[in-house]
Amino acid sequence: MNTLLDRVDLPLDQMPKRWYNGIPALPTAPEPYIDSTTDAPVTLDYVERLWTKAMAAQEFSLDRWISIPQPVLDAYAMWRPTPLIRAVAMERYLDTPAQIWFKYEATSPSGSHKLNSALAQAYYAKREGHSRLVTDTGAGQWGSALALACQMFGLDLSVFMVRASYHQKPYRRYLMETYGAQVHPSPGVTTEYGRGVLADNPDHPGSEATAVSESLETVRADPAARMSVGAFSNHCLLHQTIIGLELREQLAMIDRYPDYLVASVGCGSNMAGLSTPFMEDKLNGSETTFLAVEPEACAPLTYGEYRFDYADAAGSGPGVCTYTLGHEFVPPPIHAGGLRYHGCAPLIGQMRHQGILDSVAYPQTQVFDAGVTFARLHGFLPAPETCHAIKGVIDLALQCKEQKRDATIVFNYSGHGLLDLEAYGRYNAGELRDVEVESFDEREAQVVG
Ligand SMILES: *Cc1c(COP(=O)(O)O)cnc(C)c1O
Repeated sequence: MNTLLDRVDLPLDQMPKRWYNGIPALPTAPEPYIDSTTDAPVTLDYVERLWTKAMAAQEFSLDRWISIPQPVLDAYAMWRPTPLIRAVAMERYLDTPAQIWFKYEATSPSGSHKLNSALAQAYYAKREGHSRLVTDTGAGQWGSALALACQMFGLDLSVFMVRASYHQKPYRRYLMETYGAQVHPSPGVTTEYGRGVLADNPDHPGSEATAVSESLETVRADPAARMSVGAFSNHCLLHQTIIGLELREQLAMIDRYPDYLVASVGCGSNMAGLSTPFMEDKLNGSETTFLAVEPEACAPLTYGEYRFDYADAAGSGPGVCTYTLGHEFVPPPIHAGGLRYHGCAPLIGQMRHQGILDSVAYPQTQVFDAGVTFARLHGFLPAPETCHAIKGVIDLALQCKEQKRDATIVFNYSGHGLLDLEAYGRYNAGELRDVEVESFDEREAQVVG
């Protein structure tokens, strides 16, 4: 084997200068967002009160290409373009004729792909004269990316962090605080919604959905603040397309085309970022499979319904049409905190609904088996979210072996797991269990977690 092909680096001067908007390429237009107070489609005023004007414009843009502002390109250059690496040891271990490549997004200073959108959102907020952003975070990947971005562009940041993670996984909270953000547990006492939830259940573990409700309430009370979201919105998925656009260039350099594009899905931002730049090819007949990998305990694409639902637990935010387990679903406390969300991004939901995207779900013990195998073969320690993609890839590579098929499998290595060692520790000690999906009992799962 030619070892020069083990890693493909794109020169900085070839980093894409535009994001790719997949929405105009979809076979049908997306369903509108619904204002939960009027049950009518949201107005631009409604959206601009929540998000910055630039994010509202990008959310509904039908331009296929959107220029990346120079200050954001400069910030991307801190770590981008990211390498495309071939998992040769994994191929040999699985004895598969397939090639396994991964786009290594873990080189970002905050450790995951989330910084791609955080920098853009902080830049636009500053340019529009806002003083503060407000956001929600699960395990803290998004919060730490946005905390760094706000620090770089000179904004305050308030983060509502899922209560269970706030207390049990404080390291990302320390990282956010180190970057200068204010972090509150959700549900918490700073909002009326949070106080109400705590009055009913003082031990409520919180969820992304409670944190979104608290963010919405906080932004509505402060005219200088805007909300920033880490995965759900079209604009956030748009910013992640830098991943797939770089990948296209890198694969062209080695004369390959992906048969499979695989990513973990919490809301779908890294899946969309990896795959939408290949969507037009697919709609025009390329045979690429887009595979979303979800945790079995919280798998809206695999087990949910395609319908209107709210983005937040209180049902006060916009209603959107997507795959959902219901906005009142409190996901069990599995270790892939970034995948604990009841629904998925509307764009990802629509791609699934229209047959552009496939999905599969695995229990967390199998997911950690895959992550540990990868770490032993390659040294890189994947985030628990990323382990889902790796489990999906292993099964695809084994299928290729059976079919004697030399396919090109590419997965998005969304983040490193160096702040998730507690979960690995429990796995290594044999303490990790799978959550029973049907008979899930919140108190029991807390103990199992
Ligand atoms: C947040 C996160 C995910 C899941 O979010 P998506 O919006 O589905 O991409 C996956 N991996 C890592 C490392 C994350 O931080």
